Amino acid sequence: MDGAAENGSTASASAASATSADTGGARVVLLGPPGAGKGTQAQVLCQHLGVPAISTGDMLREAVTGGTELGKRVDGIMASGALVDDATMAEVVRERLAKQDAARGFLLDGYPRTLPQAETLRGILEEASRLLDSVLLIEVPEDELVRRALLRGRADDKEQVVRERLRVYREKTEPLIGYYRERGLLREIDGNRTMEEVTAQMLGLFGVSR
Ligand code: ADP
Repeated sequence: MDGAAENGSTASASAASATSADTGGARVVLLGPPGAGKGTQAQVLCQHLGVPAISTGDMLREAVTGGTELGKRVDGIMASGALVDDATMAEVVRERLAKQDAARGFLLDGYPRTLPQAETLRGILEEASRLLDSVLLIEVPEDELVRRALLRGRADDKEQVVRERLRVYREKTEPLIGYYRERGLLREIDGNRTMEEVTAQMLGLFGVSR
């Protein structure tokens, strides 16, 4: 476990070049609208960074499939395109980040999604004398997002639900862009390109070329 002082000093360096990937561990958030390709990119990036990709959407979908208490609570909310409440998400994320595999870092996909969630995450990390290293924003124009979502055809991908999720993103999640930019953590990525091109740009931010 590295201490608070070391963490503080590496955080500013890694915010510039994400060098914590070299020193072992990185704490990264993937931000972007539904359909931006966060999940796909997370799978590639987590292998290069050697940290687990943690998708709150996947965790909730597993809970629904498994018929757990949590799953029963969130099923209808997810199907409508709305967000699960911040208190429930705080529990889910706190528990997940406490697992051993996240001790050296993580790649969060789908969390935080609201300003209170960002504050919750800051609090969880602070308790462990940790800071975020960077927030990668994958940007894609709205028309392209709708087009992709309708191609994908997941249960919650009907056009009306897709539009609702985009509306919720603009209202609740977009304010996080300013929040993280002010904190010097935001890195912007053009997501309106091929998967491979987006991957290459992301890896470049971490000093990985392939
Ligand atoms: P996307 O297709 O946008 O990547 P996700 O798979 O991340 O969607 O999430 C699917 C659904 O799960 C969301 O629409 C929402 O209902 C719920 N969800 C996931 N993460 C969160 C979160 N951090 N806060 C609230 N709800 C969430």
